Amino acid sequence: MRSLFTKPLISYMIGILLFIFITGAIQSKLTNHVIILIAIKGIEFIILTVIILHIYDRYMKPIKKASEAVDKLVQGNYRTRVHDPAQGMMADLSYKINMLARNLSELSIQEDIKAKQLLTVIHNSESGLVLIDEKGYIHLVNRKFLHMFGKTKSDYIGHLYYEVIDNERIHHTVQETFLYEKNVKDYFTRKSSMNERHIEVVGAPIFNERNMLNGAVLVLYDITELKKLEIMRKDFVANVSHELKTPITSISGFAETLLEGNLDEEQTKQFLHIIFEESKRVEVIVSDLLTLSKLERENPYVSFTHIDVSLILHDISPIIEHQAKQKGIAFTIDLQSEDLSLQADEEMLKQILLNLLTNAVNYTPSEGEVNLEIGAEKEYIRFKITDTGIGIDKEDIPRLFERFYRVDQARSRNTGGTGLGLAIVKHIVEVHNGKVTVDSELNKGSTFTVYLPKEHEKEEP
Ligand code: ADP
Repeated sequence: MRSLFTKPLISYMIGILLFIFITGAIQSKLTNHVIILIAIKGIEFIILTVIILHIYDRYMKPIKKASEAVDKLVQGNYRTRVHDPAQGMMADLSYKINMLARNLSELSIQEDIKAKQLLTVIHNSESGLVLIDEKGYIHLVNRKFLHMFGKTKSDYIGHLYYEVIDNERIHHTVQETFLYEKNVKDYFTRKSSMNERHIEVVGAPIFNERNMLNGAVLVLYDITELKKLEIMRKDFVANVSHELKTPITSISGFAETLLEGNLDEEQTKQFLHIIFEESKRVEVIVSDLLTLSKLERENPYVSFTHIDVSLILHDISPIIEHQAKQKGIAFTIDLQSEDLSLQADEEMLKQILLNLLTNAVNYTPSEGEVNLEIGAEKEYIRFKITDTGIGIDKEDIPRLFERFYRVDQARSRNTGGTGLGLAIVKHIVEVHNGKVTVDSELNKGSTFTVYLPKEHEKEEP
């Protein structure tokens, strides 16, 4: 900067001094000529004014503009530019200030983008986030947190966490995080009038560059769905144990009595028959459980083949006819077209029809009717099983397809049901990309309708 100005300024100064010296010398020689002296003074004044104006215009004005631009840059206004069309060395300075402003502007845009990206991630996170400084003041809460705990951002930011967050477990987590300076995990449930949510809270300390505690970040996960799955798993294990316990107890009890002897041939036969029936029941439950576990795999094995529906009926109808005849029920089949075919897993399709038709027979009193109607509907084949049986209460319908769900426990067991039949149907229908609907009225009867796509759409590898 110095070299920029010193040389021309020195030449201006020398010029002015030389001018003053020359005019001074001329004045001393012309002391008697007043008019000439006044004229010289006038010329001197004009020339000096012109020189000063020139210096101001050439150096002071651009410096002032450059200084104003630098001031604006310091204040963070990176869009400012030096617009003076300065020449020479001042042009160089203006160009450099403008370059600096452009670079700073570029940097600040990038910073802005990064900050916005970070905020987008924070606000769209599926977990609640709270940032607390070392004094306990809240600096940030994200959308998920507000969704979990209600109120607005301004109700939290700038306030002490224990004054605005009404949860003892969270207070405790923050205190422990500050105390031990390490991650702390806790759980709590949050009840509202609508529901109950299970929440896991993790407190993580934040350190500054000197490794001093600077605050803490709280991460809150909604683990309600996980809890539900855990409860379902526990219920399932309890249900399986319960289902197996009854026949196994009965088998071991009767076997023990047989071992003790002292039974006549008739009783021995009766006991052996019971053991046989109960072991069959265990076999059916275990086989249904295995079928279910295979269907619930991530990629269950399904062998899609071209199936002629009438051929399937050849295998199934004798079984159902036999069951229906034993109960005095009329079983009818109604094929809406002669040419009904689809791509499906043959064994699975048979299982769907057997489960639904067996249920229809089981839950229909004697003299009742069971009908199987098969037809085509758009891109689906429709299997409609109708009975004139006991029907199902509207309240029970949504839970029918759950594992081990029975409307009437005793009736289901008496008919040899495992409570897994409809769960299996639902899974098979799902792996075929089909759907199943239920329509029922108590004491009038039920209709289960299964839609399976005619064509199997191969998934892209
Ligand atoms: P289950 O082996 O007990 O029959 P399912 O899963 O096949 O088990 O059926 C679940 C429950 O749904 C049954 O226990 C029964 O209460 C009810 N249900 C199923 N089909 C019918 C039907 N056609 N009529 C009346 N109730 C039915």
